[in-house]
Amino acid sequence: MEERQLAKLEPIGPLYEMAQHQFLKAAELIGLEENIKRFLLWPQRILTVHFPVMMDDGEVHVFVGYRVQHSTARGPAKGGIRYHPNVNLDEVASLAFWMTWKCAVMNLPFGGGKGGVKVDPKKLSERELERLSRRFFSEIQIMIGPNRDIPAPDVNTNSQIMAWFMDTYSMNVGATSLGVVTGKPVDLGGSEGRNEATGRGVAIVANEACDVLGMDIKGATVAVQGFGNVGSFAAKIISEEYGAKVVAVSDISGGIYNPEGLDIEDLIRYRDENGGIIKGYPKAQPITNEELLTLDVDILIPAALENAINAEIAKDVKAKIIVEGANGPTTEEAEKILLEKGVFIIPDILANAGGVTVSYFEWVQDLQSFFWDIDDIRKKLKKMMVREFGEVYKTKKKYDTDMRTAAYIVAIERVATAVRRRGYYPM
Ligand code: GLU
Repeated sequence: MEERQLAKLEPIGPLYEMAQHQFLKAAELIGLEENIKRFLLWPQRILTVHFPVMMDDGEVHVFVGYRVQHSTARGPAKGGIRYHPNVNLDEVASLAFWMTWKCAVMNLPFGGGKGGVKVDPKKLSERELERLSRRFFSEIQIMIGPNRDIPAPDVNTNSQIMAWFMDTYSMNVGATSLGVVTGKPVDLGGSEGRNEATGRGVAIVANEACDVLGMDIKGATVAVQGFGNVGSFAAKIISEEYGAKVVAVSDISGGIYNPEGLDIEDLIRYRDENGGIIKGYPKAQPITNEELLTLDVDILIPAALENAINAEIAKDVKAKIIVEGANGPTTEEAEKILLEKGVFIIPDILANAGGVTVSYFEWVQDLQSFFWDIDDIRKKLKKMMVREFGEVYKTKKKYDTDMRTAAYIVAIERVATAVRRRGYYPM
């Protein structure tokens, strides 16, 4: 197609550019048509809101928040909302972009979205957190709805905040709408198994990777960066149910290491009684975050934030398998180094898709007002993750490429099919 320069789109930011490169690598490999490539490179909708919140002392503070819908080609947008002092549009747009491919790689009938508020929630009282959450949700409500865009938890947001979101939306529309957000408490339209789902998915695909690489997960050593919702459940399930040995864990307070293996249940108890951090855990020795990432282990699970593994760290990584519990934990340069070293990377859009998969189950249960038990949820999750891991692995072999590019290929083919069938309105 001859290039007519009709409009020059401004770059969104460095993280979004990295995400675009991941997409383009796969798109080029399969010869994706130019029209679809152009369309899917950019987020469909971006909303920025500045909103007031009255603090407990009567002072009003103004916060900034975002909701981005990258694509709604395959269904309503889906993706979490995070609270973090470093939230910005580049990050939220990248996370929305990744949600499109994550939902597609799992074959869920959703597009991709994400939201965030730039705030350190630890500095707010419970009432301030509630007021901030309700006002933010009201501000973005013009984009939200059970058939439009369905938020969920992400970094620093939890089931109580999802309950406030659900109630706020329901009050504003005048009818209780359970399906407007997922990750709610189980006694309020939430799903069994949603809490553990991302961590469980991480363990499931780690096991699949061991299988195809001819490694035994039983006794395999594991290091986990991040001990929040993803890292703690991943560590617990991979050790208790798959027999791996978690030797190191870290969180914002630093890392801990015990070559004999950590008792994760005991560590979770310690964290909960220790103000939410693992620092000072007596049955292990302290290590730095960098030491954790470069430990001589079989499996490394980065389950914290973006860009955790950069080129410098990648040079020293000794793990054979990396399972990306976090979104975007590996930089572009780091990935090149790791692939050259032969590290098997299970990409975020597959590795941490267990969360959104059980979110999908929650949404389905809400819409039909009929709830499934935990065994059903776990069985369905495992079946879907094993199936799509297999699909991605097969694609990796077919194109002789890496797992990330293979996952994008699987996802892009599904989204592209939807775009072709729907066409470009108006024609
Ligand atoms: N925030 C999670 C993610 O990044 C879950 C999203 C969802 O359940 O919608 O995948």
